[in-house]
Amino acid sequence: MAGFFGGKPDPAKVLHDTFGFPAFRGRQEEIVRHVVDGGSGLVLMPTGGGKSLCYQVPALCRPGLGVVASPLIALMEDQVNALRQQGVHAAALHSELDEEKRAAVLRDLGRGTLKLLYVSPERLTLESTLERLSRTDLALFAVDEAHCLSQWGHHFRPEYRQLDVLQRLFPEVPRIALTATADARTVTDIRERLGLTEDPVFRGGFDRPNIHIEAAPRDGARRQILDFAAKSSDGRGAGIVYCASRKGAEQTAGWLREAGYDALCFHAGMEPADKRAAHRRFAGGDAVVMAATIAFGMGIDRPDVRWVAHANLPGSPESWYQEIGRAGRDGLPARSLLLHGAEDIVWARHRLEDSPASDEQKRIERERLNRMVAIAEAATCRRRILLRCFGEDLPADCGNCDACLRPPTLRDGTVAAQKLLSAVLRTGSRFGLGHLIDVLRGERTAKVVQFGHDQLPTFGVGRDVSEHNWRGVARQLVAQGALDVAVENHGEYRPTEASRAILRGEEKVMLREDAATPRGSTRAPSRAKAGRAPVPAMSGDPAFDALRAWRREEASRQSLPAYMIFSDRTLTEIAASRPRDLDELSAVPGVGASKLDRYGDEVLRVLRNCE
Ligand code: ADP
Ligand code: ZN
Repeated sequence: MAGFFGGKPDPAKVLHDTFGFPAFRGRQEEIVRHVVDGGSGLVLMPTGGGKSLCYQVPALCRPGLGVVASPLIALMEDQVNALRQQGVHAAALHSELDEEKRAAVLRDLGRGTLKLLYVSPERLTLESTLERLSRTDLALFAVDEAHCLSQWGHHFRPEYRQLDVLQRLFPEVPRIALTATADARTVTDIRERLGLTEDPVFRGGFDRPNIHIEAAPRDGARRQILDFAAKSSDGRGAGIVYCASRKGAEQTAGWLREAGYDALCFHAGMEPADKRAAHRRFAGGDAVVMAATIAFGMGIDRPDVRWVAHANLPGSPESWYQEIGRAGRDGLPARSLLLHGAEDIVWARHRLEDSPASDEQKRIERERLNRMVAIAEAATCRRRILLRCFGEDLPADCGNCDACLRPPTLRDGTVAAQKLLSAVLRTGSRFGLGHLIDVLRGERTAKVVQFGHDQLPTFGVGRDVSEHNWRGVARQLVAQGALDVAVENHGEYRPTEASRAILRGEEKVMLREDAATPRGSTRAPSRAKAGRAPVPAMSGDPAFDALRAWRREEASRQSLPAYMIFSDRTLTEIAASRPRDLDELSAVPGVGASKLDRYGDEVLRVLRNCE
């Protein structure tokens, strides 16, 4: 029978009719077929890679209920709302439901009418829940954000460990675990804990080619981020600025507002109610900018975040990629900016040394940090270096990062390095960078005179190099491990073991010519070269604007985030293809049967009105 596959609904048909997508992406199809056939496994895909469909489609193809363990209430609610828009009978069970709603969910569960149930791991593993489920026909279990069960991951949640009960109580029900964290130890942990050691691991491509990557030394972060935000979204799209501290996040939100952005702040020190409100506003607003610490993360489901900036260097490529991966989940062009300075590296190194972690854990974290530094200081394609951290080798340079588009020049910086190191040594390794640069540039400041540093042979040997460039030399030496900075005191620079070989002339130092990047002038990538990014960005097209205005009204009428009505990508394609009837509209990716039914006539009316 057409549309059926082994007696069950065909996954491709479900994908098309319910979700409105013409084709599976990457390994989705293989995974979906495996689960529909009753298989279990682990799915590793980057954020935005399309993990949800890997369990949602099988749950709709198999008889019975799909149960999804999910770590955050906001995340569950978003998924459930989105599924209901697609006409799927889904519900969430969590601690914030009132008695009436909870009773309704349990009633639907008992009647067997639910297709997908999202539930927190602690509630799922309650005896009463397990007992109910044992009387229910089950399609599958999905464990979302599965890295939460690993102590090695950066989001360990003890309650996730109880999920091992699923394999014992329901050995015949497929279990599918999903995560964006791919490091070997976490993968092993998840497989052992959930009884998936004999089942396949599906490693989706980790590349997110539509995200443009750019990194720069921090040099007036405020101006750098404002420039970046302005060129990233024409002031229309949503963005996130990640800051190292709560105070940094608050201040950043402040100056973003001053600059005219609808900016909010989010960090772990806020009241739960305020955090939820911020989350909701970010999910629902149009051009909202969130200034946040890394506490803002899981549960950001919004697919149309246009840019992510980091004011400080993240601790590992894993966390950085997860954070920038929140941009452009809709596949449209998106941008990321990574700002970094020597202080970031030094802070991270010292924090690590002082942490109570085991030596083994520290070694791993140190290695991650070094890789992150390598990406920030890279002179060649940053994406290639990044993807190598995930065990993936790009066949060619990406053409969509700053190193590809504006390759930096490397020069032999050995002499400059020797001058700086010798200034450090001759002043007794007791001074910060500002003073060292004064000595090098021959500035007779009060402090220089007070310590008699104008008498040193190093005094004035670096006049020909600007202060800005000296900072670049220092940062790169810190990155290369030839200089250390005492964080606990006043930021004194100290030589390391590695500096000896440089001073003795045994080791050459290659430095990026940062001066080659004129301050504040970072060009947007040329379209031709950034050709890997699909679909044109939305522009001032009147049809798109009219559709967007309609969507905003519709969303606020239903108190839903705008993207749940239709994504930017879908609106862009509707505006571009100008469907004349429901049939043509149904061919646009993102327009499934349920949405066609709900919104089709309205969309056609909006299009007719702007002809
Ligand atoms: P993840 O959970 O892996 O971060 P999601 O499941 O949220 O990613 O998917 C990211 C975005 O990609 C969503 O907007 C989703 O609708 C879209 N998407 C996923 N699979 C497809 C597909 N086969 N075709 C078109 N869009 C897709
Ligand atoms: Zn590149």
